[in-house]
Amino acid sequence: MTKVPSLQADNNGPFKVENDATAGYWGYNPENTLPPPDMMGAYMRNRPVPADQVEGRKAWIIGSGIAGLAAAFYMIRDGGMPGENITVLDAMNVAGGSLDGAGNPDDGYIIRGGREMNWNYDNIWDMFQDVQALELPKGFSVLDEYRLVNDADPNYSKARLMHKRGEIRDFSMLGLTRSQQWELVRLLLKRKEDLDDITIEQYFSPGFLETNFWFFWRTMFAFENWHSLLEMKLYMHRLLDDIDGLNDMSALVFPKYNQYDSFVRPLIDHLRQRGVKVQFNTRVYDLEMRVAGDTYTVTAIRAEIGGKDETITVGPNDVVFALTGSMTEGTAYGDMDHAPVLERGRHEPGDASEWALWKNLARKSPIFGKPEKFYGDTDKSMWESVTLTCKPSPFVDKLKELSVNDPYSGKTVTGGIITFTDSNWVMSFTCNRQPHFPNQPDDVLVVWLYALLMREDGNYIKKPMPACTGREIIAELCYHLGIEQHLDTVVANTKARLALMPYITSMFMPRAAGDRPRVVPAGCTNLALLGQFVETSNDIIFTMDSSVRTARVGVYTLLGLRKQVPDISPVQYDIRTLLKAARAINNNAPFPGERLLHRLLDKTYYAHILPPLPDKDSTKPGKLESEIAEFFGDGRQTVTRLVGWLDKVRENFRGRKQD
Ligand SMILES: Cc1cc2nc3c(=O)[nH]c(=O)nc-3n(C[C@H](O)[C@H](O)[C@H](O)COP(=O)(O)OP(=O)(O)OC[C@H]3O[C@@H](n4cnc5c(N)ncnc54)[C@H](O)[C@@H]3O)c2cc1C
Repeated sequence: MTKVPSLQADNNGPFKVENDATAGYWGYNPENTLPPPDMMGAYMRNRPVPADQVEGRKAWIIGSGIAGLAAAFYMIRDGGMPGENITVLDAMNVAGGSLDGAGNPDDGYIIRGGREMNWNYDNIWDMFQDVQALELPKGFSVLDEYRLVNDADPNYSKARLMHKRGEIRDFSMLGLTRSQQWELVRLLLKRKEDLDDITIEQYFSPGFLETNFWFFWRTMFAFENWHSLLEMKLYMHRLLDDIDGLNDMSALVFPKYNQYDSFVRPLIDHLRQRGVKVQFNTRVYDLEMRVAGDTYTVTAIRAEIGGKDETITVGPNDVVFALTGSMTEGTAYGDMDHAPVLERGRHEPGDASEWALWKNLARKSPIFGKPEKFYGDTDKSMWESVTLTCKPSPFVDKLKELSVNDPYSGKTVTGGIITFTDSNWVMSFTCNRQPHFPNQPDDVLVVWLYALLMREDGNYIKKPMPACTGREIIAELCYHLGIEQHLDTVVANTKARLALMPYITSMFMPRAAGDRPRVVPAGCTNLALLGQFVETSNDIIFTMDSSVRTARVGVYTLLGLRKQVPDISPVQYDIRTLLKAARAINNNAPFPGERLLHRLLDKTYYAHILPPLPDKDSTKPGKLESEIAEFFGDGRQTVTRLVGWLDKVRENFRGRKQD
């Protein structure tokens, strides 16, 4: 077999596994002939020749969420490790972690969340292009299924915002004033390293936090005003190309079913068929390490297996992948008659929790970060979600009015969440494509609801959401929909299952450089850290895609594979993205200078990069002049001269013959 030079585990060798497009200028030169750091596409789908050292080694993976399962997938596909040498350990008795989906029509279904996604989830699609879809003939992948579903059934919303108990509120624009637009632009311009420990509300004006934009943003991604400004900035870059589809959610795509059936089942099947073992009821709380100088080598895994303390020996050539934390850790459940009861302390989750592993690592060295920054205040990281299993009722009638297709048609229903902007809890709800579960009866709909503010009393039920039973939450929902007079009938035909998640947005807590460890912390020879609490160059968190990214970086680095993990999608630099984003944040009106650009480019090859102007006579001299005057201040002569100059340049473009 071809021998491949091995890499340094800290990734500082000549070949970078984890790329950073913001690290500096990229251009070709004799020393740099690799693709750009955020290159996507077929050229990046190379299979690296497996390094010879994979033979005889084992992989221990802690956590069977998408990050852990992806680590197993890449160990096999790109690392060439036989599946039988891979063991996944999980504290629970079901795989998937935060990707859940369970229940039945009698007891009620439960999903702690839904999955908003987009087409440039490049790590997810890289993996799922090679995983067999459960319901398609052999050879068709999960990606194929996803495209089949979404290409045929566009997603958009007819009622993104509501208020005044049942009225749709205008959601056609982001609703930012000129100075609020500048607040966003200035954030894009800021350097990442200048944003340590700053919160969103410390930066934005109070007026900004009342705009449509902020309602769309905070409810779509679950940002609270006290969360990390740095993370908000990273989201802006990562999702810049989605901004013109933010208001009506046309930028989003959704899986066919809930996340467990859509992603976990096919992936687990794929791994089991290849011999991967998943060992449940195994809570890992520490890793024993041999420390030599600046190097750290895991020698054993300390775990509670079925309630007993055990030690799993890690061989000298084995590799370990450890999830450092989970957003769904410590979920408390409730139902129609019982509010959920939390078992985690506000500031301290306790040693019997899954956070123990990261806490114990952090005690060994600062290279492992500061977990307390994330788990340390559940009042700021908690929210609750509710799954409603609905038989026909006045609620379903109201839902039909708000949906883009009949909820029973199998197509997009609400097209994403509907938010009540005057809800004290900031409550939103959604009905995704139905059936949401493969076994769901025809007359049942599964609806998901959540709220952001956990300490406020409801508008109708005078209690904070976590103190409410399912019945009370349904009452609050009916009130906001203006159908509370039908409450008894709705309750008789609806089952609510509640999930209060103390750490659901713990990843968004304000942070500074060094609070999160790197995927392979400096000096670690056989350990990679996975999931949502790990530092990557530019990626955002609270996505499945970023968990898969950490798995790829970990596998390639530990196995010394010469394969790059591209940085986040380069579309943020695409001039078209910038232009359409500028138009969107200017409330869909031409942004300052846009008419000027039209005047210059309209008759050139590049005409198509500009968003079409809303008014037909928009390039007429009067409009352009007033825009220029607005741009540069008044000064009739200057304006006339500038327009004349522009026209000449344009005519030059058109008339010029080849020399
Ligand atoms: C309500 C909700 C809505 C979401 N919406 C979206 C969305 O719209 N779009 C999107 O892309 N993403 C969304 N996400 C985020 C996405 O689901 C997660 O980022 C991703 O699933 C996290 O995967 P993970 O493997 O990193 O961690 P998790 O899935 O959280 O992994 C946790 C698993 O690891 C196990 N584990 C943890 N520690 C230990 C230990 N020490 N020992 C043994 N086992 C351990 C746990 O038992 C659990 O099974 C959402 C998540 C939730 C909860």
